[in-house]
Amino acid sequence: MHSAHERLQAISPSTGKLLGEIDETPIQHVDVFYEKSKMAFNQWSELPVSQRLEYLKKLKEYMVENIEVIAKTIADDTGKVLTEALVADIMPTLDAIQHICQHGTKMLKREKIKTPLLLIGKKSFVEYMPRGVVLVISPWNYPLQLAVVPMISALAAGNTVILKPSEVTPLVGKCIEELFISAGFPDGVVQVAHGGKEVGAAFTNGSPDYIFFTGSVRTGKIIQEVAAKNLVPTTLELGGKDPLIVFADANLERAAKGAVWAAFTNSGQVCMSAERLYVEKSVYPRFLELLKKEVDKLVQGNDENSDIGTMTFPAQVEIVKKQLDEALSRGAELVTGVPSHLWQKGMYLPPTIVKNVTHDMKIIQEEAFGPLLPVVPFETEEQAITLANDTVYGLNASVWTHDRAKARRVASRLVSGAVVINDVIVTVAHHGLPFGGTKQSGIGRYHGSGGLRTFCHEKAIMEDSGRRKSEIQWYPYKGKYPLFLNLFKSYFQSKRNWSTFARMYIKLLKRN
Ligand code: NAD
Repeated sequence: MHSAHERLQAISPSTGKLLGEIDETPIQHVDVFYEKSKMAFNQWSELPVSQRLEYLKKLKEYMVENIEVIAKTIADDTGKVLTEALVADIMPTLDAIQHICQHGTKMLKREKIKTPLLLIGKKSFVEYMPRGVVLVISPWNYPLQLAVVPMISALAAGNTVILKPSEVTPLVGKCIEELFISAGFPDGVVQVAHGGKEVGAAFTNGSPDYIFFTGSVRTGKIIQEVAAKNLVPTTLELGGKDPLIVFADANLERAAKGAVWAAFTNSGQVCMSAERLYVEKSVYPRFLELLKKEVDKLVQGNDENSDIGTMTFPAQVEIVKKQLDEALSRGAELVTGVPSHLWQKGMYLPPTIVKNVTHDMKIIQEEAFGPLLPVVPFETEEQAITLANDTVYGLNASVWTHDRAKARRVASRLVSGAVVINDVIVTVAHHGLPFGGTKQSGIGRYHGSGGLRTFCHEKAIMEDSGRRKSEIQWYPYKGKYPLFLNLFKSYFQSKRNWSTFARMYIKLLKRN
């Protein structure tokens, strides 16, 4: 994709042909978008949650009716295979809508909280109040789910939404806009601003009440800086360099299949793809053979039976090339794949596994976001943990072993937003679990109950009947100090002295 004369062009990554053009949103329209969104918020936020969820149900029904058209749009625009468009982009989106429709009312309900004895006579609650206008900025790798899931979470919680989808996959951006129109959302509740980073920057500099960003660390830092100027809260879902740790006692055939899928699904353009593989030394040579056997079976293409499609974004090919070239020039060796000068023209990259790498290489330290998997042997559990934690990222990880205690021990020590045992990536598919990163993989979480509350002001409420004329801690203080001393001593000492507590409390009341 590139922009020309304020039109976004969608170029097929697999054929190089022009698929369509989308009008870019003029930057001068930013204020109008926000005004419209703020107006729509007045009514949308007042609707009962159950009524807002009715709109989400209509969206889900419309998506199911048109599921094949949506899958084809995603596959055409990204170059990913149809199966992955369906399984990894559409399914999690539908599942998220379903989860929110089932649990949303309960998750957003005013909650009663126990009131402590020292605050006797009062009632306490937590309320979840929508924030206002949420700006969602999304990437191109799972262009449906990474836009729609934060959108529906924000909407269910009572916010209005402006989406700025990725300019790399503009047809999916347009498709999302049409989905919400077809589902009948009231005017202004959802708006889509099409365009590249200038449009994204203009909307970030506008007047959002919250920014939900998914994309690169580089852009995440820019957005956080802009947001900080007006103290606009953000969620940042950023990159990863996820480790996969295979112990000698694991089901090695399964681990090899899992590693190959986790590294090469969507051509490795997955924030949670396996980007580093650590294998216990005693099984290292055998495991390399198993990996090679699995890779040899993979079919590249763009039809229904293909396993791996193209890269989506030309700039990404360059990043993968640089990492591979540096590793090979410094002594790394290929297990599968070919050196970059032998790559075919176009956007298909070979699934590439590399051994003999050192931990300071870019291939280990920097996100590849491509079909590149370095494999490193380790000797002890401690060493595996240290190596796995040795990057600036921490999004997802996996541990493979039959020893459940060891698996759980290692999982607990990985600095990561999620860890999967004897499987990969799959936490993202369970909408009841939190999703997000540690370190430079991001700030904040969504999915699960927290995923709706993220888009709310959490409000503490206490109620008093208002019948008593005063409170013990109010003025006047005269004569109260020794009474408070005894009250707190009797209350906080290990064995509470209830009679002193009651006497002091009554005396304090009489002083008012
Ligand atoms: P990107 O940061 O280049 O772009 C993401 C979005 O930000 C796009 O819509 C883009 O137009 C917009 N943008 C770019 N510059 C901007 C600016 N200055 N101000 C406002 N908006 C701006 O990322 P990408 O290449 O689209 O996506 C790939 C990255 O996303 C990878 O690093 C990947 O790991 C990460 N990612 C993270 C997750 C996650 O959930 N943690 C999921 C998918 C992808």
